[in-house]
Amino acid sequence: MKLVFLGPPGAGKGTLAVLVSQEYTIPHISTGEIFRTAIREKTPLGLKVQAVIDAGQLVGDDITIQLVKERLTQEDAKNGFILDGFPRTIPQAEALGEIITIDSAINFDINDTLVVERLSGRRVCKTCNKNYHITFMPPKEEGICDKCGSELIVREDDKIEAITKRLEVYRTQTEPLINFYDSKKMLTNIDASAVSGIVFEAFCKLFPKI
Ligand code: AMP
Repeated sequence: MKLVFLGPPGAGKGTLAVLVSQEYTIPHISTGEIFRTAIREKTPLGLKVQAVIDAGQLVGDDITIQLVKERLTQEDAKNGFILDGFPRTIPQAEALGEIITIDSAINFDINDTLVVERLSGRRVCKTCNKNYHITFMPPKEEGICDKCGSELIVREDDKIEAITKRLEVYRTQTEPLINFYDSKKMLTNIDASAVSGIVFEAFCKLFPKI
């Protein structure tokens, strides 16, 4: 299954991608995560993109397309993948169409109020990157990762100014992809306002395992 997960930041794409990746044994490819790893490891790519990402803006299409192109040639992506957070612009979607034919673009439908609530409460482990939410998915001990015991932090781009910018960028640059895929009869809408377990159930009904 070759899937694209579309939707605003905070819609739960990453959380669902982890579940779907395990259930269907396909890799979860998150461009945001690839960039964050590069930033943490202070690679040339990381140093180049850090300021743009911290400000809630998009990394350039050329860099991002090249990155995904290389990732999709890896062995584990041969039988399917979930692209989480890519494409985010029409040029990226066109470039993806030249690389590979996807089976469906899943649109995570959710309103702005919920998005802000989810993003501003999100906490992430600074060592293993596991995500939490102070209300919806709290760690057993406040501020500490259940999995590895490290400190939980607020992502720089989950601070309120960056959230506002990311939503604006989503509306202007990414939302047009809904029509792009709809016009190609490749769009599947999913109600992303429920908790992840319910969204996952809805997903499994739409895409039964063969
Ligand atoms: P995410 O974790 O998907 O919310 O991505 C975090 C940040 O990484 C975004 O706000 C962008 O700055 C950058 N990013 C991720 N994916 C893309 C993409 N497809 N195109 C451009 N920038 C991206």
